[in-house]
Amino acid sequence: MQNNIQNNLISWYNHNHRQFPWRETTNPYYIWISEIMLQQTTTEAVIPYYKRFIQTFDTIDKLASASLEEVYKLWEGLGYYRRAKHIHETAQLICEKYDGQFPDTYEDILKLKGIGPYTAGAICSIAYGLSAPAIDGNVLRIISRLYALTENIALPKAQKNIFHIVNDLLIGYDASAFNQGLMDLGATICRPLNPQCEICPIAPFCKARQSGQQKVLPISIKNIKHKEINYITGIITYQDQYVMIQNPAGLLENLYGFIQYELESPYRFIEEFEKQYYISLSLVSYHGQVKHVFTHRTWHMHIYHFTISKPLSSLYSLNDISQLPVSTAHLKVLKHYLKTIE
Ligand code: SF4
Repeated sequence: MQNNIQNNLISWYNHNHRQFPWRETTNPYYIWISEIMLQQTTTEAVIPYYKRFIQTFDTIDKLASASLEEVYKLWEGLGYYRRAKHIHETAQLICEKYDGQFPDTYEDILKLKGIGPYTAGAICSIAYGLSAPAIDGNVLRIISRLYALTENIALPKAQKNIFHIVNDLLIGYDASAFNQGLMDLGATICRPLNPQCEICPIAPFCKARQSGQQKVLPISIKNIKHKEINYITGIITYQDQYVMIQNPAGLLENLYGFIQYELESPYRFIEEFEKQYYISLSLVSYHGQVKHVFTHRTWHMHIYHFTISKPLSSLYSLNDISQLPVSTAHLKVLKHYLKTIE
């Protein structure tokens, strides 16, 4: 078998996949219920609900003829009750329109209430083996890393591009194992912070890993409301010292903080920094984001670690920093950063 992304991922999935009750079936109705329950809920929390639900309503017919109260009762504690209402209404529609048989085309499934492109793709590939991408946050992250895509994956254009990439990868392969392989890889190995590249089955093909960007990508910065500001906040280190600057007049006057620019890409940060300080910067890793709310604005600080190759005048050890008047927002950033490197 040829070593490529698809074969490596599928073979890894077939040997290592996580065991869940919804993985013991290809019944589209059961897969649908599990996928809806898994929206906004962890796999561990879903297991007992899923089992109870399909035991009580083992066919779409039974679900359709139950009362909404009975459905709510089984949903109790799972939250987001609108999901239960949609499931109930959809079951009734399937009985009326499709004679109780779950539809079997991507287009028909996508028309059902409460089912978006991800869920439609998951049901089509897992239940029917159809070649349909199931793109969720995990897949966006993995593909962004695999191909070292530096576009912001929160934007529809980047998501469309990733959809096409996955669509092409799927052609001629086991779509069910491939899509579920991506789900498991994202949940266990290619995690948002600190991906475990050394045990990743597709590491030989990963451009982010090859270029040392696996802790930087993906860029994922959501568009936010007026008066909410995205910053790239730089933890810039030289050996074991940190660059901190004193704020000029204005908000947080005289307090110390990390260098940050109102930007949406760490690569633009490098350009701005180098223009201002004439020192080259290397991007090391992404450390999540911290939100800080002021009375009149909210900062979303996306924390990236950079290093400089020669010292700057504003370098401080952690001990020095504890003596400096640092703004609360940037103390939060430091605390968050230190926690992620523990
Ligand atoms: S090599 Fe690392 S970054 Fe690349 S896909 Fe695997 S875990 Fe993710």
